[in-house]
Amino acid sequence: MGSGQVTSSSELFDFQGKHVTVAGLGVSGVPAAKVLHARGAVVTVVNDGDDARAREQAAELQALGITVRLGDGATLPEGTELIVTAPGWQPDKPLFLAAREAGVPVWGDVELAWRLRGPDAAPWLAVTGTNGKTTTVQMLASILRAAGLRTAAVGNIGVSLLDAVLGEERYDVLAVELSSYQLHWAPSLRAHSAVVLNLAPDHLDWHGSMEAYARDKGRVYEGNQVACVYNVADKATEDLVREADVEEGCRAVGFTLGTPGPSELGVVEGILVDRAFVADRQRNAQELAEVSDVNPPAPHNIANALAAAGLARAFGVPATAVRDGLRAFRPDAHRIAHVGDIDGVAYVDDSKATNTHAAEASLAAYEPIVWIAGGLAKGATFDELVAKSAKRLRGAVLIGADRALIREALARHAPEVPVVDLDRTDTGAMLQAVTEARRLAQPGDTVLLAPACASMDMFTNYNQRGDAFAAAVRELGA
Ligand code: ADP
Repeated sequence: MGSGQVTSSSELFDFQGKHVTVAGLGVSGVPAAKVLHARGAVVTVVNDGDDARAREQAAELQALGITVRLGDGATLPEGTELIVTAPGWQPDKPLFLAAREAGVPVWGDVELAWRLRGPDAAPWLAVTGTNGKTTTVQMLASILRAAGLRTAAVGNIGVSLLDAVLGEERYDVLAVELSSYQLHWAPSLRAHSAVVLNLAPDHLDWHGSMEAYARDKGRVYEGNQVACVYNVADKATEDLVREADVEEGCRAVGFTLGTPGPSELGVVEGILVDRAFVADRQRNAQELAEVSDVNPPAPHNIANALAAAGLARAFGVPATAVRDGLRAFRPDAHRIAHVGDIDGVAYVDDSKATNTHAAEASLAAYEPIVWIAGGLAKGATFDELVAKSAKRLRGAVLIGADRALIREALARHAPEVPVVDLDRTDTGAMLQAVTEARRLAQPGDTVLLAPACASMDMFTNYNQRGDAFAAAVRELGA
């Protein structure tokens, strides 16, 4: 981890007179520039784009006395002592190569928030992984709230960490969702406890390789104080715990959908149980909640609940709060959301399943399924997904730019499954997809939108794709 170029926190905590370059306007850049300026830094913002929105933001910052360079995000401004970058900026950008050569440290938005938090700041319980982050962090916040703690779900989930750390509101603990990009740029972050939910290839173009991606995810365990929570079913997450440099006494705690061993949380006869945070873990187990308390009780969601419970228990939350928090939790839209029933067939919107790992989890939760899939594959292959899910499929309806890849995988691994291939990308396509799915389905089946692909070939984003699915289901009579 780290590149050895990070200046120590005490040296840079005082921003007075420091020359700081903020890389990228936008969601994190504008507030970062303002905070740094307010702390006395000499701030220059660099931005690749030069569009109307950028000019508007630039004007706002320039009015405060901040220098903004539009249309050139590549050149390192003279005298830069620190770069604060938007998390999405790719590490091989010329700006960062120049920074490395000049020995200039680079922080992301998370690192900045971490460094700016006050002396009595709330500890962070951190969640990362390829899939399930948002759900888990929301479950965690719900459990912490049920325990009477002042908390919020923040970070990659859309609530800025900078706001959480510098705002008026006082917190006892923060439930923090972190993306691999954010972790890449957060060299000194030290969470109270953390979890890597799972690891599957994603964003490899950004990170450069699976190893680099895993390494960045693994940073979340660095310096953990109480528990590194990992997925027993995903050995790569356990390997990351083993490689992490943690505080003395910090424990490795696994979660499993099976019967838990000592130092694990798991499931016994429909009950979520804790064999990690109990007095005699060789012999004892603490009942936390029932599987039916998890909403919805799909296997991957139970795994998310166990991970959230692990972090909450590491923070000392009682078992009853785990149960109450899980009961109070409501998933965000487009995450295995049951949108209606027609003629005994359930229609489920998992538009957020934008990669094969996520789609595999949701396909494992239902049977038999009429599967609506397709979109932008982002370099993915579908053989493994289709081979694993084939026996559950009643039929498939394929949409979007890369649907041929899925069609070919179906032909190879599930030749008996009927496939409808929709060669249209207009706004009516989803209605036709759902109509075709309805035709294939039989009472007791589930029509599942779990595209395994990004949506931008046909929709603005996965929200719009899921909304189109729900609208189609309603139009057909749900
Ligand atoms: P993230 O914030 O990591 O994108 P979300 O909680 O928004 O995760 O869930 C995204 C999608 O990932 C869900 O719609 C579901 O298809 C899938 N998913 C959720 N939890 C898991 C899990 N533990 N393992 C695999 N897939 C999951």
